[in-house]
Amino acid sequence: MKQRVLEPARELPVREKYDVIVAGGGPAGVAAAYTAARNGASVLLLENNGCLGGMWTAGLLGWIIDGNQNRGDFLATVRKRLAEGGNGFASTFDPAFRFAPEAMKFILDELCREAAVHVRLYTRVVSAILEESDGRIGYVVTESKSGREAWPAKIFIDCTGDGDLGCMANCAYDVGDSDQKRTQPMSLLAELGGAAAADLEEMTVGLRPRNDAIGAFSRALQNAGTSASYREPTIFPACPVGSDTVLCMMNHLWGNGLDADVLTSATIEARSELWRIIGALKHSGGCWSQLQLRNSAPMIGVREGRRIRGLYTVTLRDVLDGVRHLDKVCTAQFCIDVHALSEESGEGTEAIAKIPVRPYDIPLRSLISADCANLLLAGRCISGDFHAHASYRVTGNAVALGEGAGALAAESVRQSKLPREIKFSEIAFFSESCAETTQKEKE
Ligand SMILES: Cc1cc2nc3c(=O)[nH]c(=O)nc-3n(C[C@H](O)[C@H](O)[C@H](O)COP(=O)(O)OP(=O)(O)OC[C@H]3O[C@@H](n4cnc5c(N)ncnc54)[C@H](O)[C@@H]3O)c2cc1C
Repeated sequence: MKQRVLEPARELPVREKYDVIVAGGGPAGVAAAYTAARNGASVLLLENNGCLGGMWTAGLLGWIIDGNQNRGDFLATVRKRLAEGGNGFASTFDPAFRFAPEAMKFILDELCREAAVHVRLYTRVVSAILEESDGRIGYVVTESKSGREAWPAKIFIDCTGDGDLGCMANCAYDVGDSDQKRTQPMSLLAELGGAAAADLEEMTVGLRPRNDAIGAFSRALQNAGTSASYREPTIFPACPVGSDTVLCMMNHLWGNGLDADVLTSATIEARSELWRIIGALKHSGGCWSQLQLRNSAPMIGVREGRRIRGLYTVTLRDVLDGVRHLDKVCTAQFCIDVHALSEESGEGTEAIAKIPVRPYDIPLRSLISADCANLLLAGRCISGDFHAHASYRVTGNAVALGEGAGALAAESVRQSKLPREIKFSEIAFFSESCAETTQKEKE
């Protein structure tokens, strides 16, 4: 049997041209598309799933860790809309903002419609056609029920989380830790029901201090004669809070999240573990006797993929020193959160997770691809090293980075220049930071 075959070349239909195409509609992608559109660009948002939101929705991550300061208004708008929906939509009873993933899908649809973002769901970006002269992206190619289609744009933003588009555009990238290229484990989140909220209260993070809640749930698992592959199995409140529904994260699956076989086996294994644990708890009776696995996330949560190289790379040193930049997109402050890098480590998180960070700036340059002149990056695939990524990867930061990339893309289009040619002080979106920058430039 042949090891490789040559796929015959074929003509593709070229679809309408947009100013900006955003690949991936997770927290970063929706924020990027919304901000670019609000700043005057025509925008197409391409998403592989049947909903927007990425980990927020398809991943069942029903809470936002507010990892940064000085964002624009996208997250505030999302939170306001969710809060207006009442307890079924969101809850602000603890520092992490809780929401119903189903409500988030609806709010993101609405915001994109209001900003006139053209959304295409069920559509995967599968390749990039590069200009021969300078390696810029001319078209992205998608696959969907409509077949293969080519989409031209002036600026492209990679918000796939895994840096798929950067890779397709031949950009240099890094994966995993610098020594062994190990990546953080994946987790399949789930929604459980059937146990009274009052009974679970002492085991629920947000209602009890994190370590106490995790300790109580771990003991419940032990008493039921079972254990979880994530050594810090966690139950989170779900909306409506006080109902019999909770969200949980209790598995760790190791392997390369860029390999479809690994993604498949990890998902099946995680689902099997969920059924095993739920079965054991149910069998143990008491408050668990009516427990149900209501929903396992349709998308396994991949904590890290490719980090595409940019004009600047955010490093561990930056995080520990609290580095400042004139072209600040946001100030991040979440801890270096490295989940156990191997099954053998036996810990929920690596020791470095306990080292505090000093609030540090993420510069706009880390969102500009070093290798492809009309490609921007936002979300977890921006340019950073392993440990810096482990800090900035939370959703609050992903949104801020999406806004930054969207604002830069719109300004590039407005001035008919490449992103790297735009002066930070010319981007109205950053007007507050720009005033500081202009002042410092004068000094
Ligand atoms: C298990 C887990 C737990 C986490 N816990 C927390 C937490 O407690 N708090 C917190 O704030 N953050 C948490 N995070 C981190 C956070 O969820 C992510 O870093 C954040 O979602 C990053 O946003 P993103 O938009 O870059 O990527 P994602 O949310 O991964 O979204 C990427 C989107 O791109 C789409 N896509 C991918 N490839 C393609 C393609 N080729 N074509 C078209 N579409 C594509 C995907 O379908 C997806 O919708 C967690 C992450 C994981 C995995």
